[in-house]
Amino acid sequence: MTLSLSLLENKGMNERTVDVTGPAVMEMTLEELQQWLVQRGQPAWRAQQIRHHVFHRGVTTYSAMTDLPAALRQLLKTQLPLMTTTAVIHRHSCDGTQKLLLQLKDQRRIECVLIPEQNRVTACLSTQVGCGMGCVFCASGLNGLERNLSVGEMLEQLVHLRACAGRRLTHIVVMGMGEPLANLDNLLKVLEIACDPHQGLGISQRHVTISTVGLPARIRRLADSKRQYHLAISLHAPNDTLRNRIVPTNRKTGIAAILEAADYFWEQTGRQVTYEYVLLGELNDTAQCAQQLRYLLAGRKAHVNLIPWNEVPGLPFRQPHPHAILRMVRTLRQAGISIKVRKRRGADIDAACGQLRQQAIQGILPTWPTNRHATPPSIHAECSNSRTGSDNPSRPNPPPDG
Ligand code: SAH
Repeated sequence: MTLSLSLLENKGMNERTVDVTGPAVMEMTLEELQQWLVQRGQPAWRAQQIRHHVFHRGVTTYSAMTDLPAALRQLLKTQLPLMTTTAVIHRHSCDGTQKLLLQLKDQRRIECVLIPEQNRVTACLSTQVGCGMGCVFCASGLNGLERNLSVGEMLEQLVHLRACAGRRLTHIVVMGMGEPLANLDNLLKVLEIACDPHQGLGISQRHVTISTVGLPARIRRLADSKRQYHLAISLHAPNDTLRNRIVPTNRKTGIAAILEAADYFWEQTGRQVTYEYVLLGELNDTAQCAQQLRYLLAGRKAHVNLIPWNEVPGLPFRQPHPHAILRMVRTLRQAGISIKVRKRRGADIDAACGQLRQQAIQGILPTWPTNRHATPPSIHAECSNSRTGSDNPSRPNPPPDG
C-alpha cells in the first residue's frame, strides 16, 4: 500500500498553540476559565460560550468564535491558548478511519483515532503515554509507560477528532494507548465532561466503552461509580498459564479475580461485560483454548469480541488462520455465548494500538515540526479496488451494543 502526502489547509493551528508554557483553555475547569475571564474584566458566562464553541461546534480557533467581541478574541489569542497539543501526523484510511499523532507540551507523542460510520462517529482515546501492562503482542507498551495523560490532554483528543469529523461525536472507545483504569480518576473527569449535554459533548454514557487489561479493584471502583459505561476486558487467554505469558500483569491478578470483578460490575450496573480476545495464530486460537474459553464464560452475562491480531513488525506472532477463527466462533456459539469477530478498520494507516507512535519513535516516519508556521501533513492511503472500505483489516471497532 503506497501513501500519498498532501498538505492540510492550515486550520488555525498557529493560534491554538501559542505560548505552551502558560495554561490553556482545555486544561482549565469551567470555574478556572470563569475566574480567568473575570480577572480580566469579562463576564463569567463567556466561559460557557467558549466551551460551547469547542465542544458543540468543533471550533478550534478563536477567530471562528465570531460572537465574541473582537477585543476579547485578541486578548485570548495572545494570552490563553485553546489547546496544548498539536497534530503532527494526520492519516486517512480508505475505509474512512482517521488517525492523529498528537504532540504534547513535553514533546511526547500519543495517538487517537476517528472511526466514522453511517450512524455513528467513534473517537478512540489514549489514556497514557506508552503503557506499563506489557501485553506481548501490542505496540503501545514496547517502550514501557512514560506517564498518565492529564484531563486536558484527553479532552483535546476529543476536540481534535471532533474537528476532523466535522460532525458530532456519538461514541467513545477508550481503546487507544495505555491502561485506562490505571488513570481512572482523570478518565472519569473526562467522561463526565464528554457526557455532559450542556457543558460538554453530550455523548450518552451507554455509548462509552472502557477497555481494560483487567485490574479487579479498579473494575469495582468503576462499578461503584454507577455510571452506564460499557466495560470491555482484554482476556486473551482462557487459563492463567497462557495468560501469564501473553498478559504479564495477570501474574498479579489471575483470571478468577478479574471474572469476579466483572460479575460485580454486571450486578451493580446491569451492563453486560465484553471480553476481548486477540487471536494469535497457533498460540491462543487452538481447539483446546476454544473449549476452555467456552467453559470459563458459559453461564456468564458476557459477550466475546474476537480480534484477529494486527501485525506489529518485529513481534514474533502470527495472524490466526480463518479456520481457527471459525472454530472459536462455533465452539462459543454452541454454548450460547454471544460472539463477534471484530471488523478491522484502518489497517492501511496502522490504526492498532501504538503502531503509529512506534514508527515515529523508530524514525520510520517523518513527523512535522510543531512551530507556529508549520502545518501537519495529511496522509491519505491510496485505495486499490481490491482492498477498500470495510474489508480492510484493523481495529478499533465500536462496541457491540453502542
Ligand atoms: N490497556 C487496555 C486498552 C488496550 S487497546 C486493554 O488492555 O484493554 C484495546 C484492545 O486492543 C485490547 O484488547 C488490546 O489487547 C488490543 N490490541 C492491542 N494491540 C493489538 C494488536 N496489535 N492487534 C489486535 N489487537 C490489539
